[in-house]
Amino acid sequence: MGIKFIVDNNAGKLAKWLRMIGYDALFFDGRNDADMIATALAEGRVILTRDTQIMRRRVVTTGQLEAILIKSDESELQMHQVVETLNLERQFKPFTICLECNQPLMERSKKQVKDLVPPYVFQTQSQFMECPACHRIYWRGTHWQAMTEKLQKFMKG
Ligand SMILES: [Zn+2]
Repeated sequence: MGIKFIVDNNAGKLAKWLRMIGYDALFFDGRNDADMIATALAEGRVILTRDTQIMRRRVVTTGQLEAILIKSDESELQMHQVVETLNLERQFKPFTICLECNQPLMERSKKQVKDLVPPYVFQTQSQFMECPACHRIYWRGTHWQAMTEKLQKFMKG
């Protein structure tokens, strides 16, 4: 995936949604805008923020740094705006990034997760992914499906 994000804490929910569709989305919980800008520049990340001050910064107005001013306070509309603005629609790669810590997931065999997931899940699922940082195991269960459906709605919104 080419595009990486840094999500300001005023638009924080976007981080999880973007991870869900496979984007590296760092959540910025610091207070200092300058730190966020420095990280964005150093790591080549697009800033997502609701703060108009950031949009007036020279690095942004000159185009050195890409930033998107998020208009809505509803996460569905926010997501729609990001997808539309950057034309992300064709690049979804769900199930590749940990929703909690933004790390790329690693594929795991059924055998490897036998004692790590509930027996019912072990029996009914065939594909498993693990986060190398928090060791959470992901599978395409009902929770995942519900989230994907919600996401589809955002996109059409
Ligand atoms: Zn994790």
